[in-house]
Amino acid sequence: MNKSLIPLLPIWKCGCGYGTVVERPYCPKCHDLLQPFSTSPLGVVLSWTIIHVTPSGETEPYGLAMVGLDIGINAMAKFEHGKIPEIGNKVAIEIHEDGLRWIKYLPDTPLSDK
Ligand SMILES: [Zn+2]
Repeated sequence: MNKSLIPLLPIWKCGCGYGTVVERPYCPKCHDLLQPFSTSPLGVVLSWTIIHVTPSGETEPYGLAMVGLDIGINAMAKFEHGKIPEIGNKVAIEIHEDGLRWIKYLPDTPLSDK
């Protein structure tokens, strides 16, 4: 698959250098207004866990990974319970119809069978 087909990821940035994938009006560091941007969704899996006690509306365990985006922002993203990424895997993050961030595995992303 062509990586350029992965949609850009919305982020919010501040002039002080702070950035986040969570929409909020003000920078928590300097209290200036955050500005919306679109950026590459590519990053590296830093850590992950499986959520077994799920919030209301979730019926199955799911994975939650911390992804270090290439632009230097960390972002949490969900993944399917049975598709556990390896630490250091290159992945993308995309927004699904549920409005949440999900890991998108790249064609060369190896998956663990843990
Ligand atoms: Zn700031």
